[in-house]
Amino acid sequence: MAEGGHYDIVILGGGSGGYACALRAAEFGKRVALIEKDKVGGTCLHRGCIPTKALLHAAEVADSSRESAKFGVRAAFEGIDMPAVLSYQQGVVDRLWKGLQSTLAGRKIDTISGDGRLTSPTSVTVNGAVYTGDHVVLATGSVPRSLPGLTLDGVRVISSDDALRLDRVPSSAIILGGGVIGVEFASVWRSFGADVTIVEMESQLLPLEDEASAKVLQRVFRRRGIGSELGTPFQSVSYTDSGVQVSLGNGKQLQAEVLLVAVGRGPVSADLGYEENGVTITRGFVDVDPLCRTAVPTISAVGDLVNTPQLAHVGFAEGILVAERLGGLDVKPIDYDGVPRITYSDPEVASVGLTGVQAEARGYNIVEVNYPLGGNGKSVILQTQGQAKVIAEAPSAAGGQPGRVLGIHLVGSRVGELIAEAQLIFNWDAEPDDVAALIHPHPTQSEIIGEAHLALAGKPLHFHA
Ligand SMILES: Cc1cc2nc3c(=O)[nH]c(=O)nc-3n(C[C@H](O)[C@H](O)[C@H](O)COP(=O)(O)OP(=O)(O)OC[C@H]3O[C@@H](n4cnc5c(N)ncnc54)[C@H](O)[C@@H]3O)c2cc1C
Repeated sequence: MAEGGHYDIVILGGGSGGYACALRAAEFGKRVALIEKDKVGGTCLHRGCIPTKALLHAAEVADSSRESAKFGVRAAFEGIDMPAVLSYQQGVVDRLWKGLQSTLAGRKIDTISGDGRLTSPTSVTVNGAVYTGDHVVLATGSVPRSLPGLTLDGVRVISSDDALRLDRVPSSAIILGGGVIGVEFASVWRSFGADVTIVEMESQLLPLEDEASAKVLQRVFRRRGIGSELGTPFQSVSYTDSGVQVSLGNGKQLQAEVLLVAVGRGPVSADLGYEENGVTITRGFVDVDPLCRTAVPTISAVGDLVNTPQLAHVGFAEGILVAERLGGLDVKPIDYDGVPRITYSDPEVASVGLTGVQAEARGYNIVEVNYPLGGNGKSVILQTQGQAKVIAEAPSAAGGQPGRVLGIHLVGSRVGELIAEAQLIFNWDAEPDDVAALIHPHPTQSEIIGEAHLALAGKPLHFHA
């Protein structure tokens, strides 16, 4: 391991944003130091995307075995062996972690273990060793947040980090926060047999998603027996003999074995020397311009530390953008509307572009189509329900064709995989007629994208309004 020294780029934090920056910078021949106090891969690999998706896959297997008779297959669901689920989950994480470490080493990136602190606009100090760089990239990420006065004890009142370590399925859970993380845990625990209630202050689950998608999700969750208290603030929690009692603003009292607090994640920016060295911060987030430059010319910042969508692929994109800028390329700002978003619950919710409300708020006249999955052969085979909603600019003249596609919103099993096509449509400014001309393979769920655009272009195939 290196003991201090000079590099082209010193990166503080080895999560999605930091390591993507390191990997791309190395391709420009830059000498890179990547400083990480825990494990490279960060939240996404060790406490986020990957372990939760492994749990969700185990949940899907549980549901398949429980519902196998529906498909004429004799199998019995006998229960969840949580230590075995955790061991499968850890196996996935470890394999990817090993691969990442060897990719970093293969690109000759010096990974330095330890707690780093920015000690000047061009240096980070770790355990007394000083790593100087022509440029420093801050990528210290985020950690679970709570509400004022609500203390996480890690046992009964827990964060997503604690939930991922639970070696048992709770008999019942209250989930505070109906965003992506809350909805994904609700889906897993319900499939594993728990009684689950989600408490959300906004009037819909997944408040950032289109209302139409949220309504379908809420309907399917209700059918799955997942309770929800929407438009209701949390008031307080107290301990009971067997768990917790939660009081809500609507006067209801809920009881459960655990309370999972999933009210968002806060940036890791305090006490790291950022402000002392001229980096400006707003509500904990490092301020950056559209090219991820901070107020200090030698310092950039990426990932959950800055106030952009908290997604691993956004961290990757920002890390790559910074590496390419420092590598001398003419980089363009990221269009955050064009970033695909997926909630991997059952059913999945996936989207790209604007919601109907956002499109209208930006002054667009819109037209939209809701294509139900009930009209799609592969979805019927999978026995999933949901829809594809496509929003486009209304035709400028009567009888004309709709303009640019402004948003695509999908709900149903496995629709997350379809969002890759949807993002091409949005990001390449396609119009419904462009997409209508493309042949979608039958029978696939991708046909819902083709069918919705055919309908918008005025030539519906299986769609009837
Ligand atoms: C439960 C959960 C599920 C998620 N699922 C998804 C998903 O499915 N898809 C998706 O796109 N996103 C998902 N996310 C979000 C995703 O994990 C984050 O957006 C992503 O990890 C952010 O990357 P980052 O590099 O900015 O920060 P992080 O991944 O948090 O990495 C920051 C790194 O910096 C290190 N660090 C911090 N301070 C110091 C210091 N002083 N010295 C040295 N090292 C330091 C930390 O140890 C950490 O490894 C999920 C998050 C959670 C919590």
